Amino acid sequence: MTLTALDWLDTWERSQTLPLPLRPCALLAPLMPGGQAAAEQLPLGWRDRQLLQLHAALFGPALPATVACPACNERLEITLDCHALQIDAPSEAPRELSVQWQGERISYRLPDSRDLAALQHETDTQAAQSRLLQRCAPAAITLPDLAREEIAAAMAQADPQAATLLDLQCPNCAEQWDELFDIGVYLDDALGQWSERLLDQVHVLAQAYGWSETQILALSPNRRARYLARVLS
Ligand SMILES: [Zn+2]
Repeated sequence: MTLTALDWLDTWERSQTLPLPLRPCALLAPLMPGGQAAAEQLPLGWRDRQLLQLHAALFGPALPATVACPACNERLEITLDCHALQIDAPSEAPRELSVQWQGERISYRLPDSRDLAALQHETDTQAAQSRLLQRCAPAAITLPDLAREEIAAAMAQADPQAATLLDLQCPNCAEQWDELFDIGVYLDDALGQWSERLLDQVHVLAQAYGWSETQILALSPNRRARYLARVLS
């Protein structure tokens, strides 16, 4: 399915009305047969692989970013790659997984965006962990800590793409650290900036030629750029 510039403007605007954890799902919703609900129920790694592919399709595979060294505050310019960040996995996400605990089979499912939304106001990490486990592995509530830790570890292992950790080193002070990279936040931001630039173009062309927004957005990007060059020259 090909979405027009107007579709993406609408899609991004709609995403901004949602709670933060659900916004990346709104970007995938128009591309998925099950829409927003299906996107919200994708395990996080399966969601993020699709977001990486979407970024590559919309803006190319390069992900330029700036991070600050936690030790000396030096700003590092890095460029990540949508393809390199993707961890291989079956295209269909597993519906239900399980671990064995003392001869018993404990079922669990992988966390999705709805789980993140349910936990978004939980500031205590331990409490958040516990609630997440309650949602994804209800049978584990009565189990000892060791069993719960095992399920949490199995969960992380079954969906390594759910947390993309960058292994970074500061060229200034040699500090090494792990930085979490969130393609959901990144793509949301990239689309936001793109939509601002597009509205700037519409604004200038509408003023110069009296065309409507629909007419201007119907122009190819190349044609828009050539008219803009004439107005701004
Ligand atoms: Zn440093």
